[in-house]
Amino acid sequence: MDNLQELSDTEVDEKILKLKNEFKEDLFIPVHHYQRDEIVQFADYTGDSLELSRVSAKTEAKFIVFCGVYFMAEIARVLADERKYVFIPNRGAGCPLADFAFPEDIENVWNILNRLHPHEYIPVTYANSHAAVKAFCGRNEGLICTSSNVAKIFKYILEGGKRVFFMPDKNLGINTASSLGMGNDLCVVDGYSHENLNEKKDSRLVIWNGFCIVHRVFTPDHVKYWRKKDSGFKIIVHPECEPEVVEASDYSGSTSRIKKMIEGSPAGSKWVIGTEYNLVNRLSLQNKDKVIEPLDKSVCANMSKNRRRDLLSTLLAVQRGDYTGQVLLSREVIRDAKKAIERMLDLS
Ligand code: SF4
Repeated sequence: MDNLQELSDTEVDEKILKLKNEFKEDLFIPVHHYQRDEIVQFADYTGDSLELSRVSAKTEAKFIVFCGVYFMAEIARVLADERKYVFIPNRGAGCPLADFAFPEDIENVWNILNRLHPHEYIPVTYANSHAAVKAFCGRNEGLICTSSNVAKIFKYILEGGKRVFFMPDKNLGINTASSLGMGNDLCVVDGYSHENLNEKKDSRLVIWNGFCIVHRVFTPDHVKYWRKKDSGFKIIVHPECEPEVVEASDYSGSTSRIKKMIEGSPAGSKWVIGTEYNLVNRLSLQNKDKVIEPLDKSVCANMSKNRRRDLLSTLLAVQRGDYTGQVLLSREVIRDAKKAIERMLDLS
């Protein structure tokens, strides 16, 4: 077998293409928007995390090589038929946001919330969380959400007279609360500090104190810079950005919304985008009739861990019948996480 490090990039790409042709319909490669171009070129489908998991669940392919971060491959594992094998090119591609919330810490806060207001809180986890957290929500009548439907899900719970326990992204929670006019009815907690609940014990929204390092990079000064440079730019940012950044911008929206707005805007439009740089750069290359700039060049180092050699190495292992690198979850986690995902899909 070739030493992959000794191959040129072109040789690696040729081998990946050859393997793709050999696997034919037995292989499906879903690729997240934030992946490097060297991976995107091999995509059978490109999309955001949930979109990719949905299509992965429907594919007839026996092998799914999910090019994104680990929690995304876990969602694909939860939704895919159990006879299928799910892989990720680089198992070290985790998500620092997901790492803010672990079930033991969540259970502690959950017990406090249930003592304060028995049976009133509904746990909601952002898709960007570990499968075990999704399973916690599934076991406790809760559900998952994405940045596209989080407001709808909060509203549904609150209008039903219940309270929301949201994790793990503080900014998404606060930005959503503000959009619903509930910015003052929330309390921020985490596994280490839940004393806030002493003062704010009647909060209708309790929000976990995690954040995405990629979106936290953006500041109101970046927005000011672009406004000053050219007032013709429209500024759109992801809701994982700090509330001050969202407030200073013209629009905020999920990855899919950002993509749709840019693609649907007239030729000559000028955009500044506050989200992961690989996506912004690709949008700029695909929409040459518009001016597209990054709010700042913020790259998700974890997404970038999947490299062409990792993809080739994964495909070669699958070809040899070596499935030791597959993404595995316990039956209980799959069962409970699936409940949380299905509740969201029922509402969408
Ligand atoms: S962009 Fe943020 S939320 Fe998405 S994978 Fe990277 S660290 Fe996690």
